Amino acid sequence: MRPRVNAHTVFSWVRTFYQDLARWAADEPTRWGPWVAPCPVRNSDTDHSKNRSRRKAAMDQRTRTLLPALPALVKAVERQLKDAQTCLVTGRETPAGAPFTTPAGENLLRRAGVSSRVYADDPATGRRRDLTVEEERAFWAWAIVEVLRHTGMRIEEALELTHHSFVAYQLPTTGEIVPMLQVAPSKLDQERLLLVSPELGEVLTAIIHRVRRGQQAMPLVSAYDSLERLWSAPMPFLFQRRCGPEDRAIPRNYIYTCLNDALAASGLTGPGDEQLRYTPHDFRRIFVTDALRSGLPPHIAARICGHRMVDTTLGYAAIYPEDVINHHRSFIARRRSLRPSEEYREPTAQEWQDFLAHFELRKVALGVCARDFGTPCVHEHACIRCPVLRPDPEQMPRLEEIHANLLDRLQEAKEQGWLGEVAAIEASLAAAEQKLAAMRDLATRHTTVHLGMPDFRSSAGRLDAEQ
Ligand code: SF4
Repeated sequence: MRPRVNAHTVFSWVRTFYQDLARWAADEPTRWGPWVAPCPVRNSDTDHSKNRSRRKAAMDQRTRTLLPALPALVKAVERQLKDAQTCLVTGRETPAGAPFTTPAGENLLRRAGVSSRVYADDPATGRRRDLTVEEERAFWAWAIVEVLRHTGMRIEEALELTHHSFVAYQLPTTGEIVPMLQVAPSKLDQERLLLVSPELGEVLTAIIHRVRRGQQAMPLVSAYDSLERLWSAPMPFLFQRRCGPEDRAIPRNYIYTCLNDALAASGLTGPGDEQLRYTPHDFRRIFVTDALRSGLPPHIAARICGHRMVDTTLGYAAIYPEDVINHHRSFIARRRSLRPSEEYREPTAQEWQDFLAHFELRKVALGVCARDFGTPCVHEHACIRCPVLRPDPEQMPRLEEIHANLLDRLQEAKEQGWLGEVAAIEASLAAAEQKLAAMRDLATRHTTVHLGMPDFRSSAGRLDAEQ
């Protein structure tokens, strides 16, 4: 049994209902008061942050799986389009009832009958195939993959592109004319312009050529916005196709059908051998991730994608571990370049001796002094009260002796009325008791057996003597 995906939403609804009752009761106590009750859903149950981070991780993982397979998908849709076009032309030229072979090696029989469409029978499966529909789907699958991967548009923005969306922009410096694509606002009320690359230009030209069908102008059609539930004014939409006697704007579900057919025919599989599935929004995530990985500044990527906040754009990007490693390595390289180069040379013999001597000087009666390398003692060697002393459990008898001595001195100071001395001895006593407790704790934790291995100092001393 899988956990419910939208459990948080249901919790929010229930909690909101209880809160509504409480608010209504404040306005009309007689009517709503009897219904007020403590909400069984706690505020923490409606916390969406963990859910959001899980969803983001799942989306990132999806992008990491789909991005490397994108070149294979592009090749597959191109090949499918060519094969479908060849198949359609061959089928149209083949006489009724005659066999012909498709580029994929399938043997088909041309169907008889008068129709603008080309039908064929597949003897292997016994199915009738509409070669016109197959070619049309292959074309729109190729077109949508190319448009979305080159622009990173939302699907509704792509479907709203019209022949009027092309804008010629003259560069102020060189006077060169650059083709731009005007994207109508979908989510935010902000129009944006995208640069038309040569590859994108080729795809858009192929779409226009297909839709015009040799006519002077593109057909004007109305598109139905299923989200706004509105019909648009008749426009020369780029994504439109002939349905029977009329031209119609292409709806979203047709795009999904074309994409799913193309993916099923491509045979692309994921890490678990399952068939890969691309949604139109996956191309947007891939576009953002690829753009940021290629060094496009996030604020420029945000403008291209039509995001008001850069954080939204970064939320789309699936950062790869290799990116993290590369950035960390470049950070270390940058820091090294900023630090003085003499810090990275071999130490001199004197410096090495000073380094070893520092560790010798850190040994004190009650343990080891943990002050920084090259720094003098700033506590006047009052090690009992010093916080940087690491007590040695083997010195416990010595510290117990000091502790007993401090008690005697405290007694004497009190008897003599040396009140200033009393406060100092009491502070030393408290510190000695704390260090004793630390030594006892360390003594109980020391369970390793010393095997008599040579320690660092003896090795260093031998090296020094050999030199
Ligand atoms: S007083 Fe502190 S810093 Fe100074 S030698 Fe003792 S432990 Fe080290």
